[in-house]
Amino acid sequence: MLPHTSPGDVPSLGSRRAKGRWAWTAIWLAYLAASLAVAQSADAPSRITALTHVRVIDGTGRTPLEDATVVIEGNHIRSIQGGGAALPAGARVLDFHGDTVMPGLINAHGHLALIADGKNSATAYTAENVLAELRQYESYGVTTMLSLGLNRDLLYPIRQQQREGKLDGATVFTAGRGIGVPGAAPGLPIAPDQLYRPATPEEARAVVDAMARQHADIVKIWVDSLGGTKPSMSPEIYRAVIEEAHKQHLRVAAHIYYLADAKSLVNDGVDVLAHSVRDKPVDQELISAMKRRGVWYIPTFTVDESFYIYAQHPGFMQLDFFKAALPPTLLTMLSSDEYSQKVSHDPSTAQHQADVAMDQKNLKTLYDAGVHVGFGTDSGAMPVRIPGFSEHRELEDMVQAGLTPMQAIVCATRNNAALLGIEATRGTLRPGKRADMIVLAGNPLNDITNTRSIVTIYHDGRSVTPRDPVVTAR
Ligand SMILES: [Zn+2]
Repeated sequence: MLPHTSPGDVPSLGSRRAKGRWAWTAIWLAYLAASLAVAQSADAPSRITALTHVRVIDGTGRTPLEDATVVIEGNHIRSIQGGGAALPAGARVLDFHGDTVMPGLINAHGHLALIADGKNSATAYTAENVLAELRQYESYGVTTMLSLGLNRDLLYPIRQQQREGKLDGATVFTAGRGIGVPGAAPGLPIAPDQLYRPATPEEARAVVDAMARQHADIVKIWVDSLGGTKPSMSPEIYRAVIEEAHKQHLRVAAHIYYLADAKSLVNDGVDVLAHSVRDKPVDQELISAMKRRGVWYIPTFTVDESFYIYAQHPGFMQLDFFKAALPPTLLTMLSSDEYSQKVSHDPSTAQHQADVAMDQKNLKTLYDAGVHVGFGTDSGAMPVRIPGFSEHRELEDMVQAGLTPMQAIVCATRNNAALLGIEATRGTLRPGKRADMIVLAGNPLNDITNTRSIVTIYHDGRSVTPRDPVVTAR
């Protein structure tokens, strides 16, 4: 379905070519929208599909319904009923023989198109790469994702086309460009039009207003001294951002590392802490402030673990589910002895391992204290944070930190829908909600890694081919 001539074949960056590039993007998006419309009409003879004999984990945390029937009509769920429900006339019936249905995963901290040819690149942010990554997320059952900053403005028309049902891929929400610090965080190679770096509170307010005019879904700020090597965002700047964003009815999510920054931000009104607190155990002061203000916490084990985990050759690296998610050259590199040696000799590896231990401790403490916990990975920010695969690994990490599989699943579904403000339509399996769901051969409540046993996926009622489908003898 993809055109053979991709936008990558056209000189895609540099202001000289900007006009031509934007025109090309528009044509290409129109082409994709047309091919999707054709694909949808081709498999639309029956608007009603009944999934029978399924276990339903509905995302609310309550006991699963066994031997149920889920009826999908158009893009939404028509009904979910226990055994022996009468089927609507004309329904296409698919007997799933005891498979498990759960809501599509929602990633509230991901990124798009920051990587080309297995490397971070300032020229990677093209519509083609955005679409490819949204499709990768979707083909792993991540049906919704928030691209938390570093987006070029071309993401806005893509989001719009999705809303009009003209483009596939994971449903995207965006923090637009986001707000970093001049000469400091974030340190990734990006184009100048992927991030604002205001130097004064006045500039900070102006860039928030600019993103509000484009209807960004949330505002992202980076508050991190990068190990004391760079100036962090000053409180005057982030207070201006938070105040202006709230004036514009936008919430603010902060990249953080340090407990002290987390506390200051929470006290200054931030809405989401978008990474784990990693330097110290969280304390009662932070817990009380987060609960009082209803601040969300998104642990991102993937960030810290991805620096070293592949060097240990974990069993998951043998799975097609993993291999299908990354380019062969990257797989070869991560599997090599040189890579293992490099990681084991890297002085920062011990720190990353200590960070994961702190992530575990802090997640368990905050969850048990009743702080709102969401779900994210930072996948897409670096080649080793792998869209689609990392979300399933993150669930396993949360369970290793002491959450039950059900608790981890609820964080990644209902809770994240609430975090994004879309709980009326997504995040749980209830009549009237969007038909976003994954059908699994195994029961993830018995073993969280069974979220990887994907038989099929529905997104907005549309059937999506899994990247690595489980084929079971029936
Ligand atoms: Zn990030």
